[in-house]
Amino acid sequence: MKLLLQGGQVVSGAGVAPMDVLISGETIEAVGPDLSCPDAQVVDVSGKLLFPGFIDAHTHFDLDVCNTTTADDFATGTRAALRGGTTTVIDFACPNKGETLQYGLQLWHRKADGKSSCDYGFHMTIDDWNEGICQEIPEMLQAGIPTFKMYMTYPAMMIGDRDLFLALEELGKYGAFAGVHCENSGVIDALIAQKKAAGETGPASHPATRPNALEAEAVGSLLRMAQVAQVPVMIVHLSTHEALEEVRAARQRGQTVYVETCPQYLLLDRSLYEHPDYSQAARFICAPPLREQADREALWAALADGTIQTVSTDHCSFTLAQKDAGKGDFTQIPGGLPGVESRGILLWSEGVARGRIDAARMCALLSETPARLYGAYPQKGVIAPGSDADIVVLDPDAPGLLTAADQAANVDYCPYEGLETHGRIEQVYLRGQLAVENGEICIGPVGKYVHRTLSK
Ligand code: MN
Repeated sequence: MKLLLQGGQVVSGAGVAPMDVLISGETIEAVGPDLSCPDAQVVDVSGKLLFPGFIDAHTHFDLDVCNTTTADDFATGTRAALRGGTTTVIDFACPNKGETLQYGLQLWHRKADGKSSCDYGFHMTIDDWNEGICQEIPEMLQAGIPTFKMYMTYPAMMIGDRDLFLALEELGKYGAFAGVHCENSGVIDALIAQKKAAGETGPASHPATRPNALEAEAVGSLLRMAQVAQVPVMIVHLSTHEALEEVRAARQRGQTVYVETCPQYLLLDRSLYEHPDYSQAARFICAPPLREQADREALWAALADGTIQTVSTDHCSFTLAQKDAGKGDFTQIPGGLPGVESRGILLWSEGVARGRIDAARMCALLSETPARLYGAYPQKGVIAPGSDADIVVLDPDAPGLLTAADQAANVDYCPYEGLETHGRIEQVYLRGQLAVENGEICIGPVGKYVHRTLSK
């Protein structure tokens, strides 16, 4: 079966051009002006923008944290993803300390296989370093996992400088790299103890115990270790203007550094934690925490000028009832926000429609660069002959509204509740199948595992 998307504007990381797109089965057969194909079903997309399906390279579905499990699993999380134009997610497989990477990989396949409605891959978390795990790295590459994750904070997952360094070095031998959560763990612990001793146990203490400087300190420390290891590295969910300065300094030294941020750091700020109602404040708890207006402005500028390479979500959702676990102790609030459903339209409406970035840059941040960096290009990330027919049809002017009442994510709040968007996602195609039409999900759990290769 062939489909001809006619009259739209095709977006790539390089620009926007009027092009028709011919889809044959699961892949794109041709892209060009005034295509015709007598046996194709014609879909009129005039006046619409066609983006390559968005890739969210930072999700946590079906993850056990804080004595609970994220509200979204692969079934609900990938449906939410599709509604937001995300046709591929890369989730973090997360073996516990003492378990093998292979165990973590099989566990994540059991969570995702047969349940996912969009395509998916996994990064592998390294929270231990020993001879066995070192030997598993090539197996992971063979299994389609060229990217890894390490934590500089969280006792359950943090790996320590020696092992972080050794792992970075080993990954570098293969041309693989890791994304790293950068916050100074020890000083955060000290600040938390001080807040608790002072009886300040509400959500407002959360950002105070994780100040900007402690992200910048950890980013600087990681980048110096990467300098010695002589390897590239990715800073995930970067949130502060101080950390951007560390990145720029490392690049000045000649290092290769990739940076990801998330919509919550672009659009929300720490004043939300001051709300007198516990639930209103607790729903925004995440780490790193929401920051200041000045950080938001610095992050938008860094998206526009190329300092930041990707925008992912760190989707890690909990219901308001789950967030209640931290009443009386802010450190017990499960940390994380939903985001996989709203990222695309937020970047369009708050980014492109407001003139902060252009459509090509949005495509680079959400589709093309993640596909390249994470080794899924050109299968994903581009509208070109031979690529998977993952396409987002976006009406640039239709009004939309973000609200919890209209979301597929299994969570009873929306961090952007009531936000009116300029622009709306009208259709989403996953490998040639109409997956979403005007907000309705039209497919079942047909998502496939994406076997990734080293980045190119
Ligand atoms: Mn995360």
